[in-house]
Amino acid sequence: MPEGPEVQSIVTDLQSLIVGRRVLDLVTYEYTRSLFGEVDVDELRDEITGSEIVSVTRRGKNIILQLSSDVYLAIHLRMTGQVFLRDDAPKYCRLTIKLDGDGDLHLADVRTFATCEVYSADEMVDFEMKKKIGVDALSPAFSLRDLQSIVAGKRPLHAVLLDQTKISGLGNIYVNEALFEAGIHPLRKAESLSDDLMKRLYKAIVVTLTKAIKNRGTTFSDYRLPSGEMGSYQKHLRVFRRTGEPCLKCGATIKREKLGGRSVFYCEKCQPLSEP
Ligand SMILES: [Zn+2]
Repeated sequence: MPEGPEVQSIVTDLQSLIVGRRVLDLVTYEYTRSLFGEVDVDELRDEITGSEIVSVTRRGKNIILQLSSDVYLAIHLRMTGQVFLRDDAPKYCRLTIKLDGDGDLHLADVRTFATCEVYSADEMVDFEMKKKIGVDALSPAFSLRDLQSIVAGKRPLHAVLLDQTKISGLGNIYVNEALFEAGIHPLRKAESLSDDLMKRLYKAIVVTLTKAIKNRGTTFSDYRLPSGEMGSYQKHLRVFRRTGEPCLKCGATIKREKLGGRSVFYCEKCQPLSEP
C-alpha cells in the first residue's frame, strides 16, 4: 500500500509531467465505475474536456489534480492503485485521461479499491476535515509541538502513529522504521514518553521520511512511479520485514508481533519497553 512518501513521490513527478497540459478526453473501462462511485463519468468528461491541469498536490494520501474548470480530482490509490504517464493503457487500467503532448495519464488498479472523487474549489476548503486527515508528518511545517499534541494516552505508540486521523503520512513501514531509528519500543504506551524520547521520536520521523522521499519510496510489489520505475527505499529498511535477522545496530534478533492486524517489528535490545 503506498504511504506518504510514495504518494509524495508520485505527486512530485506528476507536477513536472502534467501541469499546464490540456485534457482531451476521458477513456473508461470495465471497472471505471468502481473508481467514481456515484459520479456520472459522461458528465465529468464534458466538464473537464478542454480544461488545463493547474496543479498536482498531495493531501494526506490523496493525489489532487486541480483543473481549470473548477474541478478537483482526488485520487486515492488504496492497496494496489498505480498512476502512469505513457502512451498505451497499462494492465488493469481503470481510467485514462488523454492529454495534449506526450503520454496520457492512466490509473491502473488490480484490486479495484482505488477511488477518484470529484470536488469543486469550495468543497476542497475543508477536505482534511471531511476526510479526517490528521497533521501531515511530511509537511515542512510538521513540528515537535504537533507530535507532542498527538502522542498521548494509553494506546501503544505504534497504534497512535498509524492513526491517520491524528497524523498522516506515516504508514506501517515508516512507523516501524522511525521507532527503530529513535530506539523506542513500538508497544510502549504513548503517554510514557519523556521529553527526551519525544524529541528523539520527532527527529527520527523527519529523518526517516526525508530519506524515504529521497529514495522515491518503497517498492515491495505494486508501487510504481508514473514512469513505471520503482522506489528504492526497500534497500534501506532496518527492521521492517526483517523478522529473525540480526539487528543492524547490535546483532540481536529482530522480533515481530501483531498489533491490531498490523505487524510490529523491533529489536528488544535497541528498543527497550521501559527506559533503563
Ligand atoms: Zn539492536
